[in-house]
Amino acid sequence: MAPNDKAVLYSMREGRELVSYLKDIEIGIPADDIDELDRRLNEAEKLLLDDKNTLAGAVLSEFHDLMDTIVQRDFSSLTPRQIDSISRSDQRPTTLDYARELFDHFEEIKGLEANTSDPAVVCGFARLDRNDVMIVGHEKGSFHEDFRRGGSALPQGNSKAMQAMQQAERFGVPVISFIDTPGSWPLEECLPAQIIARNLEQQYLLKVPHVSVVIGEGGSGGALAIDVSDYRIMLDKAYYSVISVSGGAAIIARDKRHITEDDMSRAAMNLHLTAADAYRFGVVHKVVKEPAIGVRKSDKDFFPIVKEAVIEGLDRVKTSVTPFFIPDSNYKNTWQIKKIQLPLLFRRRYRMYRRIGWFHTSISDKIKHVFGELYRVKWIHVLSTPVWKSVDLFRRMKLKDMEEPLLLLDEEQPKQLTYEDRWVECPNTEYHGCQDIWVPTLFEEYHGACPNCGYHFRLTIDHYIDLITDSGSFREFNEGIESINPLGFDGYNEKLNKAKRITRRKCAMITGHAFIGGVPVVATFTDVRFRAGTLGGAEGEKFCRAVKRALREKKPLVAVHQSGGARIEEGILALMQMVKTSIAIARFKKAGGLYISVQTDPTMAGVLASYASLGDFTIAEPNAQVGFAGIHVIEQTVKQKKPKNYQHSDSVMGRGGIDYVVKRDELKSTIMKLLELRKKW
Ligand SMILES: [Zn+2]
Repeated sequence: MAPNDKAVLYSMREGRELVSYLKDIEIGIPADDIDELDRRLNEAEKLLLDDKNTLAGAVLSEFHDLMDTIVQRDFSSLTPRQIDSISRSDQRPTTLDYARELFDHFEEIKGLEANTSDPAVVCGFARLDRNDVMIVGHEKGSFHEDFRRGGSALPQGNSKAMQAMQQAERFGVPVISFIDTPGSWPLEECLPAQIIARNLEQQYLLKVPHVSVVIGEGGSGGALAIDVSDYRIMLDKAYYSVISVSGGAAIIARDKRHITEDDMSRAAMNLHLTAADAYRFGVVHKVVKEPAIGVRKSDKDFFPIVKEAVIEGLDRVKTSVTPFFIPDSNYKNTWQIKKIQLPLLFRRRYRMYRRIGWFHTSISDKIKHVFGELYRVKWIHVLSTPVWKSVDLFRRMKLKDMEEPLLLLDEEQPKQLTYEDRWVECPNTEYHGCQDIWVPTLFEEYHGACPNCGYHFRLTIDHYIDLITDSGSFREFNEGIESINPLGFDGYNEKLNKAKRITRRKCAMITGHAFIGGVPVVATFTDVRFRAGTLGGAEGEKFCRAVKRALREKKPLVAVHQSGGARIEEGILALMQMVKTSIAIARFKKAGGLYISVQTDPTMAGVLASYASLGDFTIAEPNAQVGFAGIHVIEQTVKQKKPKNYQHSDSVMGRGGIDYVVKRDELKSTIMKLLELRKKW
């Protein structure tokens, strides 16, 4: 074949791919134009088959002229839905493309130990100019590579990624991660949520700079599993979101059975998932502009731009901890962080994530917060500690004389089973022959557990406070922090107002001082009646402040979780609360704090994949639902029917995700035993 023919064939193939790409991404190019492109291609193909190569070449060049006029139209105002469709195209470069184009000598590490080989995550050392770097990324592969599950990492894959990062740390080599996943694979058998939580904590502790690039899909917890970076770059046709557009559409659709294209568009708009939004919210440091219709594997000119951004990111991280640093990637080990600079790196990381999330604060809370910050000054700390200790002592003495308080039972409480005045049937009646139980007796005498079979009914926050803390000892703080609607999400204001009205709280997280068996602790609880106890900006902030207070006052932290996950209506800001809370816990534990995590019914998704799984000890109640995703979502994704007890706490304990499953009447005594382990710090 003559070289000229080869060029025609190449041009033909490139043309076919371009047309299929335009059909795929749905960015509003008229169907007539695409038909015309198709027609010219078919004509050229026919001429080629008839050996009329010169004529074919001429038709092809007409084709490319038309293509040029089409792609040079104004695509500057693509809708979020259109960006979402571009981000999922299989013609976009994947991690392996970037690894080969941006770096030299990339060699993939397939698996670092038994059971960690997962083709959806690739990692390996490479060279960036004269420096070694570790590349970690989600790999979608081409569309026929089913084994990569479209970039959905297995829990083992996330473990592998973490091991690769820790290996990089051992050699003082910076980590560069490429994010491109619709979400992690929900394989409860291998503890996906718990492994994501551990990754969040461990990434914070990495002693090397970490720059991440969101190259396609930034799908919720799965993305975060390798993206607790110091500097985040995002391509402008990529998305970052707490839930997929179709998942978001299912929430806002009026008719849940028939999700329309309009629902999808509205969901994409409401979720604020574009790079511009992420930049505005302070989640992303740099947005890299792609070609107008999105980048494709063949756009070789694009890779140097990303490379430049990565180098800039590494320089920025290094500069932030090293004054007078002169950036030069041709100098070996240029981005290594010296031991003396590490505290600065950690503090920078903590502050960066601490700032993310929107909420309201009352004036009194603002003033208290400012006074709290004064505590950092050493002499104020030293002088005031005895004062606080005597306040605690005084409170404890006063408590001893107090009577048992009654449960909060007033008429205005919302209708929850725990407050009803009727008989209830135990779900196990059929197997265990349990008698019907009078609700007030069930919750006051038996702590909501069937006295016959031990089935645990769902409990509400007031009962938990009463059950776990010494009676009357719980003193709430930061009660003025309030959930708001940062994205202007449709219908969220009404939902929030309703939740605030029925619970008479400002957000789902309740934090305070308490005693447990006479030991002063900082305790947090979740009100599941407030938007299903989900984690939003206000909840994340309140939890972090509680952790900070425990750290400052050197008290153990006991957190009781009851939550449906991250709050969809707060989009990426809610998602980032997972990182924020996990980092707070990581700092607390590193400083020597004791954290006891209690998982009650239900502890799910984003909350389980972050602070709820990071306890020094994790306790759960019997038959509590503890899982990474809803059971229907899991069955649909893995195409397999799962057993009824798939997400029961006992099953999770069997897999190693929980330390103790404890009945309610033994819950407090178990926590008291564990509190004995606290050390002086
Ligand atoms: Zn029963």
